[in-house]
Amino acid sequence: MNQAAAPADAIDWARIREDFPVLRREVHGKPLVYLDSANTGQKPAQVIEAVDDFFRHHNANVSRAVHALGTEATDAYEGARRKLAKFLNVRGDELVLCSGTTFAINLVAYSWALPRLQPGDAIVVTRMEHHANIVPWQLVAERTGATIKVAEIDERGDLDLEQLYGLLTPEVKLLAVAHVSNVLGTVNPVRDICRQARKRGIVTVVDGSQAAPHRPLDVAAIGCDFYAITGHKMAGPTGTGALWARREHLDAMPPFLGGGEMIKQVRFEGTVFNDAPHKFEAGTPNIAGFIGLGAACDYLSAIGMDNIEAREQALLEYATGRLDATEGVRIFGRAREKAAVISFLVEGAHAHDLATLLDLEGVAVRSGHHCAHPLMQHFGVPATCRASFAFYNTFEEVDAFIAAIAKVRQLLL
Ligand code: PLP
Repeated sequence: MNQAAAPADAIDWARIREDFPVLRREVHGKPLVYLDSANTGQKPAQVIEAVDDFFRHHNANVSRAVHALGTEATDAYEGARRKLAKFLNVRGDELVLCSGTTFAINLVAYSWALPRLQPGDAIVVTRMEHHANIVPWQLVAERTGATIKVAEIDERGDLDLEQLYGLLTPEVKLLAVAHVSNVLGTVNPVRDICRQARKRGIVTVVDGSQAAPHRPLDVAAIGCDFYAITGHKMAGPTGTGALWARREHLDAMPPFLGGGEMIKQVRFEGTVFNDAPHKFEAGTPNIAGFIGLGAACDYLSAIGMDNIEAREQALLEYATGRLDATEGVRIFGRAREKAAVISFLVEGAHAHDLATLLDLEGVAVRSGHHCAHPLMQHFGVPATCRASFAFYNTFEEVDAFIAAIAKVRQLLL
C-alpha cells in the first residue's frame, strides 16, 4: 500500500479496511461493527505478519547474543524504536520503550516525581484524565506530602483554561494532562498549556494515548517534558508503548526497575547503570510486540496521519448528526476540537444493558466508567456508552449503529 500522497477523499478506504482480518467476522450472526477503537485498535495484516515473521525466522533475545539471530532481533527491535521516534518526531535516544501509557506515567511518577516532591508541593491534573494519569500522582502525593489540584471542564467538555492557569501557582511542580480525552474526545491545546506551565517552571506530562493513533503528531513541538503513548491503540500489539522525555530528565532520573539490560557493570560493591533510554528498560522486552509496533508506524504513516484524521473527522461528524437526530440520545462532550469518540446514553437504558443489546446486533461499543470515575462523577452518571471510530470504519457502519440503537429503543420502550 502506498497512499501517502493521496488526499483523504482519494484514498480507497474500502481497500484499506480489507487489511484488517477481524473486521470480516460476524458476531451473533451479524457483521461485526467495531466501534471500540479507543479501547484497543484492530490490527492490520501487515502488523500481524511482522510479529509472525519475527517468531518464525528471527526469534532471539536482544542485546545479549552475538549470533546471527541475536543480531537480527536487536537490529529489528532498535529499528522499531527508530520508526516510533520518527512517527512521534522525537529522538530515539529519548524514547523509553515500555508496556504502555500506564507504565510510562508510573515511570515518571516513581523516577521523576517521588524523589523530588515534598510537603507543600502540588500536582495539577484535569477532570478528564484516565485513571492512569490520576492514580500514580495520588500515590506520589501520599508518599511525599504533596497535594493534588484539579483543572475543571466547562459545559462543552473543554478545559476551563482560565481556571487551569489560575491553578499554576508557585507550589505546583507538575502538571499532568491528556492530549485527547478517551471519554469526551476533547482535544486539549497542549502546546499552549505546556508553554504556560514551562513559563512557570512546571514540568508537564502529556498522556498521548488517544492522540497518537488519530492525528499527525509532533511531540517535539508540543514543548512538554514527558509524553506517553500506548501501542495497542495505534494498530500495534498489546504490551507495547513508550515514554518520550527530555534528555536532561532521563539523565537525572534514577532507574525505575533494576535487572538485566539496564546496566553497564554489576559489582557487589555497586552497579553502573546503562545510559538512557536503556537504563529504564530492565529485563527482556516485548521484542515481537515492538517489531509489530514498528510495522504499525509504517502502516499508519503510509496512509498518512492527516488522511486518517480527516477520515475519522468525517465519520465523527456523520455519526454525531445521526445520533442528534435520534430521539432519547444524550451525548456527553461537545468540545470545540474533538476526536472521533462519542460518549452517550439512551433515555431509559442503563449503559451496560444498552451495550449488551447493541452487541446482539453486532455493534461493539464500550460501556462503563471508561477508567474516568471523576468525569462520571462530574456528569452525575455511573457509566456511559462510548462509540469510538477509526479510519477502517465506514459510513454504513454508522448507519448500522444508529439502526441498532433505534431497535434497542423499541425493545426498551
Ligand atoms: N490514558 C488514556 C487516555 C487511555 O485511553 C488509556 C487506555 O484506555 C490509558 C491511558 C491507559 O493505557 P494502557 O492501559 O495501554 O497503559
